[in-house]
Amino acid sequence: MSEIRCRIAPSPSGFLHIGTAKIALFNWLFARSTGGTFVLRLEDTDAERTDETYVQAMCDGFHWLGIHWDEGPEFGSEPERGDYRPYRQSQRRQIHVDAAHRLLESGKAYKCFCTKEELEAMREKAAAEKRPPRYEGTWRDASQERIDAMGNAPYVVRFRVPEGETVIHDIVQGDVRVKNTEFDDFVILKGNGDPIFHLAVVVDDATMKISHVIRGDDHLTNAARHVMLFEALGEPVPQFAHLPMVLDDRGKKFSKREHGANVLDWRDDGYLPEALINYVALLGWTPEEAGRELFSMEELKHLFRIERWGKSAARFDRKKLDWLNGQHIRRLALEEFRDRVTAILVKQGFPVMDKPEAWRTRMAEICQEKLATLNQIVEYTDFFFGPVTSYDEKAVRKQWQNDEAAGVMELMIGAMESVGDWTSDHIKAAYEQLGEQHELGLGKLVHPTRLALTGKSVGPGLFELAELLGKHEALARMRQGLDHIRNGIAAT
Ligand code: GLU
Repeated sequence: MSEIRCRIAPSPSGFLHIGTAKIALFNWLFARSTGGTFVLRLEDTDAERTDETYVQAMCDGFHWLGIHWDEGPEFGSEPERGDYRPYRQSQRRQIHVDAAHRLLESGKAYKCFCTKEELEAMREKAAAEKRPPRYEGTWRDASQERIDAMGNAPYVVRFRVPEGETVIHDIVQGDVRVKNTEFDDFVILKGNGDPIFHLAVVVDDATMKISHVIRGDDHLTNAARHVMLFEALGEPVPQFAHLPMVLDDRGKKFSKREHGANVLDWRDDGYLPEALINYVALLGWTPEEAGRELFSMEELKHLFRIERWGKSAARFDRKKLDWLNGQHIRRLALEEFRDRVTAILVKQGFPVMDKPEAWRTRMAEICQEKLATLNQIVEYTDFFFGPVTSYDEKAVRKQWQNDEAAGVMELMIGAMESVGDWTSDHIKAAYEQLGEQHELGLGKLVHPTRLALTGKSVGPGLFELAELLGKHEALARMRQGLDHIRNGIAAT
């Protein structure tokens, strides 16, 4: 097979799950790194579970991640595109039915007229004999007369499972051999004429000329049936790659109800799509450059190699994701970072747009090196937009509850007052000079000052934030801090 074509085939029955995002990402990166084509096919045959709002939610998730399909259904203002339309499985029913009829005609499938009661009796018998329930082949070798005699009675179409064994050549799992006796003659067309998933997926992959079926390892148990169907239809069997699932931080399958299972939860929590992509890529791919973890999307598109995919499931490691997110935040252009964090502050109701643009840019600049998530901008800057009304208790105990605290505070107020040109460099110089004069390390000055100016023990660089606060406001806060030290007002 020369042309590489792969696909993501989600059933839109909910939001974009992190596990589906991983499969989509691996397909997409595989296509991008090989010059192949990445297809989106919506497996929306389960009408009860499919809802257009889910289709929207799922595609929004792909868009946010930056996973764009080359061929796929209509979405928003994007028209359906590709040579193998339609890309919604529900619109391909006739193609599946025709394939089932071809299998019937060639004898690779047959009609089964068993009634519900007969099938129930088979199940009960198997249960009594402690065997797994299986179809006993009642209609497998039925004569034409017997079939004709059924007239218009309802029937299902069953696949005639061949003898022997089926081998799944899997890029990730290796060769998986399955004895065909493991399977009974499974249904491919239901009594109402609807195709069953196994038939639909195989027919769609065959007619869409999919060369690589890359999907979750929960489908490995289906793969043997799929191989048999490809062969029975006389279609080339695609290369398979069954990838391990994404596990949560406790090592369990990410449950749908868990926060973070929905890819857009990460967006709402202030993560960058490029960080999530980078992180998820590492859940099942080992870069050639040992130890390297940080990759941009562009780098991944070039470096991602199917030969380096692994089969062990990886746990979600929030610390590593946070670290990567911080790294990707640092890589953003300053203006872009500024606009993203400004939007978050506006949403939180802070009057950030009342400040001049240069102020906003500087605010962004002094935070960009520090944040692990975009949302942290709130705790890093909220003190700019309102008075300090409480002090971090632990920091108060450490910085302010000692005999020297009030005296040092007075000295610092004096040093600040002496600063003429209120820039971070000058404030810093005044503090350094003060430290030297009184033999106090800079830390002894910086931490109590930070507490007075922000009420907190962590935040952006102290001298930079003091500059942005302005001299008047900084001094007012220092005096408020001094009052607090003297009067011992309980910190809240
Ligand atoms: N629709 C299936 C799912 O959502 C995927 C089938 C496949 O990838 O072959 O799990």
